[in-house]
Amino acid sequence: MYKRVLLKLSGEALASTDGIFDHEVLDDLARQVKTIVDDGVEVAIVVGGGNFIRGKMAEELGIDRMQVDNMGMLGTVINSLAIQGALEKVGVETRVQTAIDMVKVAEPYIPRRAIRHLEKGRVVVFGAGIGSAFFSTDTTAALRASEIKADVILMAKNGVDGVYNADPNIDFSAVKYDSLSYMQVLQEQLKVMDSTATSMCMENDIDLIVFNMNEKDNIIKVTRGETIGTIVSLGG
Ligand code: UDP
Repeated sequence: MYKRVLLKLSGEALASTDGIFDHEVLDDLARQVKTIVDDGVEVAIVVGGGNFIRGKMAEELGIDRMQVDNMGMLGTVINSLAIQGALEKVGVETRVQTAIDMVKVAEPYIPRRAIRHLEKGRVVVFGAGIGSAFFSTDTTAALRASEIKADVILMAKNGVDGVYNADPNIDFSAVKYDSLSYMQVLQEQLKVMDSTATSMCMENDIDLIVFNMNEKDNIIKVTRGETIGTIVSLGG
């Protein structure tokens, strides 16, 4: 169904209830990614850092926002290395490329090189966000998907199975969308991604599928074209 996908995972999705990582989540992720790589799909991954820290915690910590953002970006690198470790354990060749140079642990981000890895069937994990404070890993996903010309962003959510017109955990009458446009997301202020990321996807005409990562084999299902979650596109 898709030739090249960018999978966006939140940092929180990798965490257990009482720890930074849940090894079962990492192992299951690796198993699913191996399956889609074996299907012939080229896979790039952007992972968040929310299991460590987020920029919006700056105030409560009393630490300068830029400093906390740097901490967040480093958290995404740790997550990227954990994903690389899990993937290599199941025999999937993986490269981590970081937007902040740290050449002893990962390659620097070089778009053409990333594309070459993908063409060779290697998974590429992009760490350290876009390398600048005041951005999110959703924006990173939008930017990297544009740069590597991914067919779609697969946004794996933690416990939410798509985009709703209201928060389904609070409002039991909330209705799930099967499809919608980026303009609707912006106008109705739907909580899909932050507005920078949404605008970037809109301007670069990148499709996005929001789906639940906690349901069995959903990463495999979505890449094989099963209709799950919500698809967000330019036309809706
Ligand atoms: N971050 C940043 N620049 C980027 C990407 C991330 O400063 O390009 C920082 C920011 O503080 C963010 C944190 O890293 O809150 C973790 O990323 P994010 O909140 O997107 O992670 P997620 O919520 O997906 O786990």
